[in-house]
Amino acid sequence: MAHAHNTQTSFLLEDEPRSGRQSLLQVGEQKDIRYFAANSRSVLNGPKATGMGFWSINPYVGCAFGCAYCYARYAHRYTAERLAHAPRGETIPTDDLPPWLAFERRILVKREAGTLVRRALAKPAVLNALREDRVVIGTATDPYQPAERRFRITRSVLEVLADQKGIAVTIITKSPLVTRDIDLLKRIKEHSDVCVNVSLITVDRELARRLEPRAPTPEARLRGIARLREHGIEVGVNIMPVLPGITDKTEMVEALIQAVKAADASYVGACALRLQATARDRYLPFIDAEFPELADRYRRAYAKGYQVSASYRDGLRRRFKAVCDAHGVSYGHAKDDDVETSDARGPVSVQFDLPLG
Ligand code: SF4
Repeated sequence: MAHAHNTQTSFLLEDEPRSGRQSLLQVGEQKDIRYFAANSRSVLNGPKATGMGFWSINPYVGCAFGCAYCYARYAHRYTAERLAHAPRGETIPTDDLPPWLAFERRILVKREAGTLVRRALAKPAVLNALREDRVVIGTATDPYQPAERRFRITRSVLEVLADQKGIAVTIITKSPLVTRDIDLLKRIKEHSDVCVNVSLITVDRELARRLEPRAPTPEARLRGIARLREHGIEVGVNIMPVLPGITDKTEMVEALIQAVKAADASYVGACALRLQATARDRYLPFIDAEFPELADRYRRAYAKGYQVSASYRDGLRRRFKAVCDAHGVSYGHAKDDDVETSDARGPVSVQFDLPLG
């Protein structure tokens, strides 16, 4: 991942280097997950560096939640390859796990993140630039994954942001662990804008377990949303990605929006699945195994690119809008760049097998 001020990242090594390649310093272990120190020189990525139109901070590389559709696996592979080709030849010990699984089980922890953000914001030019655009925590990996309970890196970043005035902060997560930091969110809110975007694609617990095997249950996320709202924190729900043929049925959208309404979320945004290369490598075999009846349709639907057809996306948007309107839930939000808007009119049709290609 490119960084705002320095694109280089260095890594701590074990005290006793092995012959040949040297392993990153292991800083923890949790069942089948191993944590390693990533001594990044910068964690605050500027809008120009990422091309995303906002600042971003990701306290971890890799994510233990293991969603089948995750598009962020590339960052882990990229880091591993870059380390392997560096002059010192450091490695992330993967124990021969395939790259998609190493993303979930070999997590890099940016232990200095809070200090680095504080140092960056001590420069008036950086602070002024930060006030121009929103800073989003968790654009690539979940900042409240299980590692956070132990390492508290995201909390250390929030502590720094709470000392600032006139900034805008968004946190993207699937975990109710974010409620641990309500004290800091309220402090940030005193002088800045803050909102939490909770990702939730279905309220079907069994389906969620298949799609997002280690992520918190939908009920736990909804309880987290309600708790944040009780404390006056703005909460959006990211219904992203909507999985064609799996989570896009009208009755599922209805159940989800009703639950979101009951939890008092401020708004929702939705977006159909995008399949970039590394997500495709994991997701399509997953579909073959878990939803074989959809395999051919998926391959045809995503044959020409990473997006499903415009007509599908447009129909989906109108379906969500209609259900949200019916339940008095705000759809889309000025802070959500990912929500596409359309003036298209016509019957609501989201037949996954119709608008292929
Ligand atoms: S929570 Fe987000 S980053 Fe983590 S595996 Fe799921 S989609 Fe990927």
